[in-house]
Amino acid sequence: VNPVESKLIDMHEQTAELYNHFLMNTDYGQHALDYLHKRGLTDDTIKFYKLGFAPSNRILSTFLKNKGFDYQSMRKSGLFLESDDGELRDRFFNRIMYPIKNEVGSIVGFSGRVLDKSESQAKYLNSPETEIFNKRKILFNFSDAKNAIRKEKTVILFEGFMDVISAYQSGVENGIASMGTSLTREQVHTINRITKKLYVCYDGDAPGQNAINRALSLLGNTKLELGVIQMPKGVDPDEYRKQNGEEKFAEYMKSALESPLSFKMRYLKLNRNLDNENDQLTYINDVLKEIAKLPQPLERDIYVNQLAEQFNVSKLDLTNQMNKFIQRDD
Ligand code: ATP
Ligand code: MN
Ligand code: MN
Ligand code: MN
Repeated sequence: VNPVESKLIDMHEQTAELYNHFLMNTDYGQHALDYLHKRGLTDDTIKFYKLGFAPSNRILSTFLKNKGFDYQSMRKSGLFLESDDGELRDRFFNRIMYPIKNEVGSIVGFSGRVLDKSESQAKYLNSPETEIFNKRKILFNFSDAKNAIRKEKTVILFEGFMDVISAYQSGVENGIASMGTSLTREQVHTINRITKKLYVCYDGDAPGQNAINRALSLLGNTKLELGVIQMPKGVDPDEYRKQNGEEKFAEYMKSALESPLSFKMRYLKLNRNLDNENDQLTYINDVLKEIAKLPQPLERDIYVNQLAEQFNVSKLDLTNQMNKFIQRDD
C-alpha cells in the first residue's frame, strides 16, 4: 500500500466513523436507524458492519478538511461530486451507508441505499472506481468471511449486501456478494485461493433465477465445485430471515441445497408447458445437452435414467441422443 492509497483508506475509515456516528447517535440518523431496526437488524450487526447514515445537509467536505485532508486527495476519493468551479459536494446524502472493505479489511468504498422506495433515484448508489476501489476485485464481506469460509470449506454467494448481513446475523458467516454485477475472473481467483466450493444463493424472483443461470455457466469454466441454494418463490434471503427468523434461516441454508443440474432442470421448465409435445421435446433435448456436460459417466447415466422415467421414454434413445451432445476434446 503506497502513501496515496493509505491516505485514501484513512479518509474512508474516518468517513465511515462519521456516518456511523450520525446513524447511531444523532437525530439526523433516527429515521434510518428505525428503518434498519424495522428490517430486523440488531445493534450488534449494525456495529459489526459499521453501517451509517449520510444526512442530506452535506457535511463531509468540511469534516475531512478539518481532519487535515487536502483538496486533491478528497477529489480522488470518489466521495464527492465536483461542480464546474471545482467545489466538492458529498456524493452520498440521505442514504444508509454500507462500508465496503478490501481483501485485508480496509474500507475502500461505500454503497448507499435510499430509505424510501422512490422511482426517481437508484436504490443503491456505489462509489465510483478509484485508486483503492476496483469493483472487479472487491467482494463484499470477504475479509470478514475468510475464516468461516475456510472452516466451512464453502463460500455462499448472495445477490445483495442485506442478504449477506442477514446471513451473518443468523450465524451463517461464510457469505459474500459481488458489487451488483456478475462475478469476474479476478473475484473467482480470490475465492479459489481459500476454497474449492461455492454455493449460489440468489433471490427467488425471475431476475434472481436468470442471474443464477448466468453465474453457473460463467463458473462452469472454473475449477470450483458448485451448488445452488434455492430460495422460495419471490423471496430473497433477507426477506426469508425477516419472515422466519435466524434459526430457520440457518437451517434453510443447509436443507435447500441442490446440484447445478437440478437447478438447470427446474430453470428450463420455466415458461414451458410440458404437456405440450413440442415443449416437451425441446425440454428433453436441452436437459440432455446439460447432462452431456457432466464429467462422470455414472452421473450422466443416473440423470438419463431419471429423465427416461419422468417422460416414459426409452433410455437407450435418450442415451444415444445425449452421446451426440458430448464434446470430444480429442
Ligand atoms: P434491499 O433488500 O435493501 O431492498 P436487495 O439486496 O434485495 O436490497 P435487489 O433489488 O435484490 O436488492 O438487488 C440486489 C443487489 O443489486 C443490491 O444489493 C445491489 O448490490 C445491487 N443493486 C440493486 N439495485 C441497484 C441499483 N439501482 N444500482 C446499483 N446496484 C443495485
Ligand atoms: Mn434481486
Ligand atoms: Mn434482493
Ligand atoms: Mn432484499
